[in-house]
Amino acid sequence: MVLGLLFGGTCYLCRGTASALLCAACDADLPRLAPPRCPRCALASQRGEVCGRCLAEAPHYDATVAALAYEFPADTLVHSLKFRGELALAGFLGHLLSERIATDGIDLVVPVPLSAERLRGRGYNQSVEIARHLRPGKLDLALCERSRDTPAQLDLPYDERRRNVRGAFRCTRAVLGCTVAVVDDVMTTGATLDELAAALKGAGAARVVNWVVARTVLAD
Ligand SMILES: [Zn+2]
Ligand SMILES: [Zn+2]
Repeated sequence: MVLGLLFGGTCYLCRGTASALLCAACDADLPRLAPPRCPRCALASQRGEVCGRCLAEAPHYDATVAALAYEFPADTLVHSLKFRGELALAGFLGHLLSERIATDGIDLVVPVPLSAERLRGRGYNQSVEIARHLRPGKLDLALCERSRDTPAQLDLPYDERRRNVRGAFRCTRAVLGCTVAVVDDVMTTGATLDELAAALKGAGAARVVNWVVARTVLAD
């Protein structure tokens, strides 16, 4: 990828004149998530209270911050970073996320790991690339490992995703009492993040906070 192609004064989305990755109009049109939202899963809730879904079945993570709704054109940006190797988008999306998150009190920043096999195939982990722009000094790429990640969650119906990721993650050391921020590009059902949070809690983490670029807004 040639950086100049992205930053050559042309908006990545509309090809109009731009002084940044996106022109001012496209940037203003991004589907930024607005409050009130459930502090735990970042879905909409009436007065910013914990939503019924989280009350009925509490996830292992304690909080979620999401910058964008996973809809056009946020999905295009996330997809291009993930599958087309357009790594300059990681800086842009990381910046959007950094405007939302509170980094105080975070001991470790852990991007959702890919399996070794998928990492070899893709050549990079998009969540790592995003996380590099958030709290670089706290980034820990060795703490969590993923044993498998096929089939891809995207290809599965929602109710099968939880089963698909069960036992997929392990921690390589104890993190007693730590507050861990987990970084991901997209949160859909939250099954993957829940499973990773369970592994981190199992390793002694006191608190797990999700930092995600884009959140699918579920129909239910
Ligand atoms: Zn534009
Ligand atoms: Zn919730």
